[in-house]
Amino acid sequence: MSHVFPRHCHAAIPTAVGGDGCYLIDADGKRYFDGSGGAAVSCLGHSNARVKQAIKDQVDKLAFAHTGFFTSEPAEALADLLIDHAPEGIDRVYFVSGGSEAVEAAIKLARQYHVERGEPQRRHVIARRQSYHGNTLGALAAGGNAWRQAQFAPLLIEVSHIAPCYEYAERGEAESLADYGQRVADELEAEIQRLGEDSVMAFLAEPVVGATLGAVPAVEGYFTRIREICDRYGVLLILDEVMCGMGRTGHLFACEAEGVRPDILCIAKGLGAGYQPVGAMLCSKDIYQAISDGSGFFQHGHTYVGHPIAAAAGLAVVQEMLEQGLVAQVRQRGAHLEAQLRSALGQHPHVGDIRGRGLFWGVELVADRATKQPFAQKHGLAGKLKKAAFAEGLICYPMPGTRDGKIGDHVLLAPPFISSEAELDSVVDMLGRAIDKVLDGVPVEA
Ligand code: PMP
Repeated sequence: MSHVFPRHCHAAIPTAVGGDGCYLIDADGKRYFDGSGGAAVSCLGHSNARVKQAIKDQVDKLAFAHTGFFTSEPAEALADLLIDHAPEGIDRVYFVSGGSEAVEAAIKLARQYHVERGEPQRRHVIARRQSYHGNTLGALAAGGNAWRQAQFAPLLIEVSHIAPCYEYAERGEAESLADYGQRVADELEAEIQRLGEDSVMAFLAEPVVGATLGAVPAVEGYFTRIREICDRYGVLLILDEVMCGMGRTGHLFACEAEGVRPDILCIAKGLGAGYQPVGAMLCSKDIYQAISDGSGFFQHGHTYVGHPIAAAAGLAVVQEMLEQGLVAQVRQRGAHLEAQLRSALGQHPHVGDIRGRGLFWGVELVADRATKQPFAQKHGLAGKLKKAAFAEGLICYPMPGTRDGKIGDHVLLAPPFISSEAELDSVVDMLGRAIDKVLDGVPVEA
């Protein structure tokens, strides 16, 4: 009997024993193509020689030194490298162990920044519906998913949620893309005014929405308007690039494509690429300066902040991406994956939308393409699709739609940046077969 507390208590899952390039191997020797990189984590595949060597070298040199006493060479080098490539104005890196921690730290830093500057009345956070920002209490409160929050509601800080920018499901028929983008961005201004013009500390959003919507980029102009509104009301813009950052969208930082400058930026998953649990919160010079000129101490910190082995792995990951030209490769292979998805599934009667950027794609299933009506949640399509794809030898990341019937089940693809075109072709084949198998016999009525 296993003593591991698993994610799903009643589902038997195989034991992973090895990794080989884009494949994971279970105890029976079965190989699975990692078409979602776990959850957009394993961007370099599972056997990158450089990252493995960097970890071994760092263990031999220095395993741990508490950041209350020391900085470390790999943490310094990784911070320098990230800042060299970060959006303009971003100047400091605070290392953490994962995405939730990065978001949690960002919320606390935003609050402390305003307090240190003499604006303690700024206490509201605004985020978006249908979002996920992590599972610690602050990050869970920020996420806009009532089902995930339900049991923990009494423990959560108050966060307001405005509409996501999700044009497939929510743009009016007569509305242009630009008008739609402005309309949903303007919800931020309305919410700031409702809460009190000087009472909001931060707005939090993913540039390309990952798990909850399935690789949905905002429409052009949306984030420019969001930035203007944040500036007008002194609200900090926190971008959560935990899933979409680190090259995944064909830019090292996803916000580059929007031409928008965040005040705080959260990264994780692809930074450690699965080799080490590492994330980071990056912030602007102004924010760092306010803390430095004020108390001089960010009131936060976990024991493993800036862990040398995690930083050494992150450093090797980013070096590998940059030196091997992998971000450009993501754009090229991404264009190939998009073309294959559109040609294989674009006319499928139950594929409503195919959207994404780089090697980050979502396929949304609908009962009716004309009305965009999702399948009823009682069919549990996402769970069945995960199983059917797994049986094909494909790891993908299906997510159920919302219970209000507004958003359909969708699948997220986030294959390793090193995937070959032939491997991406076979991902599309396996996914197509899994979709057909799962939909076979499912009634389309609600
Ligand atoms: N933010 C986003 C956008 C995410 O996708 C995730 C993880 N799926 C998190 C935060 C939380 O990251 P972690 O699971 O590493 O805590």
